Amino acid sequence: MELENLDAPGETSLLIVDDIPENLNVLGGILEMDGHQVFAATSGAQALAIAAHTALDLVLVDVNMPGMDGFELCRRLKANEATAEIPVIFVTAMTDTEDVVAGFQAGGADYISKPVRREEVRARVRTQLQSRRYLMAQRAQAEHYRGIVNNMAEGLLILDAQGVIRFVNPRVCHLLGFGEEQLLGHGLGEFLEENHVQAYRDYLATHAPLGPRNLALPHGPREVELRRQGGELLSLDLTVSPLFLRQPLYIGLLHDISRHKASERELLRIANVDSLTNLANRRHFDVVLRQEWQRALRNGLPLSLAIIDVDHFKLYNDSLGHQAGDRCLQQVAGAIRSLAQRPTDLAARYGGEEFALVFAETNADQALHLGQALTARVAALRLPHLRSPTHDWVTVSVGLATIRPRREDRVERLLEAADRALYQAKEAGRNRVAQAD
Ligand code: GH3
Ligand code: MG
Ligand code: MG
Repeated sequence: MELENLDAPGETSLLIVDDIPENLNVLGGILEMDGHQVFAATSGAQALAIAAHTALDLVLVDVNMPGMDGFELCRRLKANEATAEIPVIFVTAMTDTEDVVAGFQAGGADYISKPVRREEVRARVRTQLQSRRYLMAQRAQAEHYRGIVNNMAEGLLILDAQGVIRFVNPRVCHLLGFGEEQLLGHGLGEFLEENHVQAYRDYLATHAPLGPRNLALPHGPREVELRRQGGELLSLDLTVSPLFLRQPLYIGLLHDISRHKASERELLRIANVDSLTNLANRRHFDVVLRQEWQRALRNGLPLSLAIIDVDHFKLYNDSLGHQAGDRCLQQVAGAIRSLAQRPTDLAARYGGEEFALVFAETNADQALHLGQALTARVAALRLPHLRSPTHDWVTVSVGLATIRPRREDRVERLLEAADRALYQAKEAGRNRVAQAD
């Protein structure tokens, strides 16, 4: 938006006030020739009445009038919010310094000496109308920008060089659940989740001293979490760009990405979880096993792996149907999950009716205990298995392997060892644990 047409007269409404009608005629004649719409009043009271219901751009007032004089009229116009901003020009024969000063003190914008001269009237009126139009245009422009800032979907912050919040738009308050007064004067760092605070401080610390030379170095959107009123964390993109006015400032833009984050988390969950059993799936198992392998390698700690297979499960399906088989797998999965107690333990569905447990920092003896506990727990479910040649209920066999990884070892070795042990457990009669050497 531009400030335009400041010189064009446009439709302007002027009020002239003088107790002598002849003076009104002269002044009115000059102004009407310039295309202004002219209202006339012969007393202060009449002038106030006109001003009350007419949108005026300028008032020209005779100072010497019976009853309410020009100064008093001016003061009353200035005292009323609706008319306070209309410029007032005094038309007066009293041009001593004292009188002129009194006029300005009453709120007058200028004065014209009597007897009036056409060109002076035109010049002074034009000047007042111009600055009034300029003011109005600026105000409209400010209003326009305020409208944008107040209605934008992004949160907009202005921070000073120390990261103290100096301005927030309504969206910031809405996002964070704080009132403006709870945000202004506080450091943005106070609202950032701890993990993000240092990076943000570093950014301010490297940029602030550089000032305007640094305008080209905004930092792009970074994912941060801000603490809302009440403590809940909100995921946001924060973009900070330096802004150098009279002092170094920063513009911060906040964009809500919590919905996007929630679906990201959900996708991640779907990608990592087996839908039948809710255990980790094979994909996630592969990732975790390799992570734990690396960790064990670094720390020189033992890592144990159990591969679990349901015994005679084909016969179970054949006798009770596939759906009963699924429910059975869910029950067995529950027992397996109950063995994964520590945060670093992982229970996974390895595929079909095979499962796996990863036990970090667990030696062979400890793993054997866990494996035996597992076979006992599954058997304790007492899920009837009418056609099993070995037991009357569902059982599992467990192959265990434990390793203290060295640099030259491969994770596949651990898997193969556990697989071989599982085969031995099957061979030895099922419902048991076998451990690789
Ligand atoms: P073993 O004791 O030697 O392990 O005998 P098994 O019958 O369990 O072994 P086998 O590998 O021959 O059969 C596995 C069966 O598991 C075959 C397959 O239909 C069934 N199975 C695999 N995945 C699922 C599943 O998701 N749901 C159901 N209901 N059955 C499954
Ligand atoms: Mg199998
Ligand atoms: Mg099986």
